Amino acid sequence: MTDLQAGRTESFIAPLRVVPGKKVDLAADFDPKYEAGVAKKADGVELLRVGIELLAEYQRRLAAEQTRGVLVCLQALDAGGKDGTIRHVMSGMSPQGVRVANFKVPSVEELDHDYLWRYARRLPRRGQIVIFNRSHYEEVLVVRVHPENLDRQRLRASARGGNIWKRRYREINAWERYLTDNGFRVVKLFLNLSKEEQRIRFLKRIDVPERNWKFSAADVRERAHWDAYQQAFTHMLNATSTEWAPWYVIPADRKWRARLCAAAVLAHTLIDIDPQYPKMSAPARRELANARKELEEEANRGSG
Ligand code: ATP
Ligand code: MG
Repeated sequence: MTDLQAGRTESFIAPLRVVPGKKVDLAADFDPKYEAGVAKKADGVELLRVGIELLAEYQRRLAAEQTRGVLVCLQALDAGGKDGTIRHVMSGMSPQGVRVANFKVPSVEELDHDYLWRYARRLPRRGQIVIFNRSHYEEVLVVRVHPENLDRQRLRASARGGNIWKRRYREINAWERYLTDNGFRVVKLFLNLSKEEQRIRFLKRIDVPERNWKFSAADVRERAHWDAYQQAFTHMLNATSTEWAPWYVIPADRKWRARLCAAAVLAHTLIDIDPQYPKMSAPARRELANARKELEEEANRGSG
């Protein structure tokens, strides 16, 4: 990766970043149809192909180095395109080095623990990339929009009182800081879908038989809370976009562009980490040379 390519990736993703400390308003500041300088789908698809190759190479290096890890947090409203984004971003990667963790409604066992417990259990190892399909941010999104979820968490009155959301933001920021300091980068992607595009995608799930299985009446009911979600996203972006783990708002109304932007943000992180294949020690190099000699002699014997 040349400095020029690194610079291009940086300027491509800079408009998507929520600058830490700067107040943003989701509706006013981020357009789900933002073009990101790539107007034509054919160009976007070609760029994505190149990006996926680059991700694959960096992932191999990350796995070989076994020192740092990457956690990708993916948040979106229903039909936001999480699955397709994950499929594309991972497509060139080696299955051993990458894993997806899906987070649904918490189980009884999960509710028996503190709220970050289930996320902590599925963090990456050194050398690994883990994608959280929904993440610990659900704890300040769906739980905030539907506070009855808090009842199930069986918090003591003192843990619910005051400003619980402010406290959760603080705890999440501190947790991510801890992970970053210990060698694990946290990449946060919010797929920003417009209400009209969500309506169109739901209709497609009803009208196209191959997509019927994806349709959920509960998703349509959840749409009634659209404004509350937009507010919760805005609060989340303002409170948890930090120097060590900034948020990126991905324009999601065009699937190909969302995938390209997500791949670019992840590539940017990996370029910055710049993992290296381990250097062979002198004894290890000697061992390789001996092994080579043995293998060559075997061939000589075979042919002789
Ligand atoms: P897909 O629909 O593409 O399979 P999904 O992530 O939407 O993927 P679902 O099983 O449809 O998966 O939905 C999971 C549900 O779990 C979502 O409605 C989400 O809001 C909910 N959820 C996730 N985390 C929590 C949480 N901590 N507390 C309460 N609900 C949660
Ligand atoms: Mg769903």
